[in-house]
Amino acid sequence: MNRFAFVACAILLAPLSANAQSADQLVKGATDTSNVLNYGMGYNLQRFSPLTQINRDNAKELVPVWNYSFADDRSEESQPLVYQGVIYVTTNSATMAIDVKTGKQIWKTKVEYPPETPRIVCCGIINRGAAIQDGKLYRTTLDANVIALDMKTGKELWRQKAADIKEGYSMTVAPLVADGVVLTGVSGAEFGTRDFIDGWDPGTGKHLWRTYSVPSPDEPGGDTWKGDTWKLGGGSTWITGSYDPELKTVYWGIGNPGPFDAAGRPGDNLYTCSVLALDPKTGKIKWHYQFSPNNPFDYDAVAEMVLAEIKVDGKPTKVLMDANRNGFFYVLDRTNGKLLAANPYVKVNWATGIDMKTGRPIETDVTKDAREGKKVTVFPSILGGKNWEPMSFDPQTGLAYANTLLFGGHYKTAPATYKAGEWYVGMDLTDLWEWGTGPRGALKAIDPLTGKAKWEAPSDIPRFSGVLSTAGGVVFSGQLTGEFEAFDADSGKKLWQFQTGSGIEGQPVTWQQDGVQYVAVASGYGGVYSLFSGDERLAKVPAGGSLWVFAVKK
Ligand code: CA
Repeated sequence: MNRFAFVACAILLAPLSANAQSADQLVKGATDTSNVLNYGMGYNLQRFSPLTQINRDNAKELVPVWNYSFADDRSEESQPLVYQGVIYVTTNSATMAIDVKTGKQIWKTKVEYPPETPRIVCCGIINRGAAIQDGKLYRTTLDANVIALDMKTGKELWRQKAADIKEGYSMTVAPLVADGVVLTGVSGAEFGTRDFIDGWDPGTGKHLWRTYSVPSPDEPGGDTWKGDTWKLGGGSTWITGSYDPELKTVYWGIGNPGPFDAAGRPGDNLYTCSVLALDPKTGKIKWHYQFSPNNPFDYDAVAEMVLAEIKVDGKPTKVLMDANRNGFFYVLDRTNGKLLAANPYVKVNWATGIDMKTGRPIETDVTKDAREGKKVTVFPSILGGKNWEPMSFDPQTGLAYANTLLFGGHYKTAPATYKAGEWYVGMDLTDLWEWGTGPRGALKAIDPLTGKAKWEAPSDIPRFSGVLSTAGGVVFSGQLTGEFEAFDADSGKKLWQFQTGSGIEGQPVTWQQDGVQYVAVASGYGGVYSLFSGDERLAKVPAGGSLWVFAVKK
């Protein structure tokens, strides 16, 4: 290229890069098939792609394009982002930019931690991914910092401490950039924290607002806590919310109350085990819906609140869908929080159903006995009918594809004494599981309005990966034993699998570049189930984090 041509080219490119990942592009993220701009493959968190190059007929021809080592042996739950031919991916200990075509590292920026950090973190040394806008990449760190990096160089641009790790707070959440604000949540409900969601200025990192998930006595909902219980009330916010740009509303799930022993904190304990509808500009709560009031069973409601327009009683309706950890699949009208459907998608024995008038669970003696301190067998277990691993919603089939957990648990309260930065659980942690004899998990294709599965793909060990669905009729998921899998979206028939070398706890994504559709997923074992289940079937799975990229062989 001569000098003149180079100058002309640079002029043509300039307006494009100036608008790089602008707010407009983020809004269109779910339909932008050449990039992956948002956590959840779009603000709606549907994890659905309209791409069809990889489809149910040729998925068996998928082959690895390259593999990139994270040089990290922890759980890799990060969702990669892709922008203009570069993949941006995080681990707990680093942020990386990788060239899509070659798999070569462009830059890697390490996260340095104080030595006491890992000891204080609950449920896996992890990070779930980044957010990008206007040339900046945002991520959180285990020691509860929010940082912005330059997407070109990986250089740190700003850093803010959101909370003190010595008080039991940590951060694993992928930030959300919505309406010009960076939103983040925290982990820590198992450590006697009082949790919150923060808003930050994307340019400077200035703290804009904080909305507590547990209100103080003088705030609305403060009367649902007795005495000082609110101060240690938990309500973590460790999974990224969804965002409706038309309604200018963010939907963020709230975790369990702490400690688990519910008798010590009488009342509904708002806003634990709820979803909050928030104004992202101010953090103001527009409405809330509580799934599990005064919950004893660690039924965090943090997991993804998926947005879609579906027909309810024949009428197209803006809904929010949640395969709640408590075993019920909820559909709410997201304009006002009204309950439209709530049906079990796994075995449930703590409630017989949800009262459609009040929205409250109809609890059984299992819940009553648990609150009275008796040992109970509860379905689902404290890990839930589905844990954090995100489902996908396919608007073409109308089905939600979710990795569900099919076992129960044993539950008995135990005394809890608060000490800053230490476990504050209030539950007997011996003999936790009611395994049964069959498969411990299943990928289910769920009808959102009935909770019933059109098909199931069972697995001995539950899958803990995210799910991705595509217009090619393919559903991607991964096994804790390392197999990355593709299923037929209509029938659940296994189309393909590939052994990635460590357990998959990551979140698959897909995009198309220069005529090639790629699928990427992080592999790497060590999350909550790997650490706490004691599942003997996992004994031989090696650690070792890496990123895999696949395409159909030409
Ligand atoms: Ca929890």
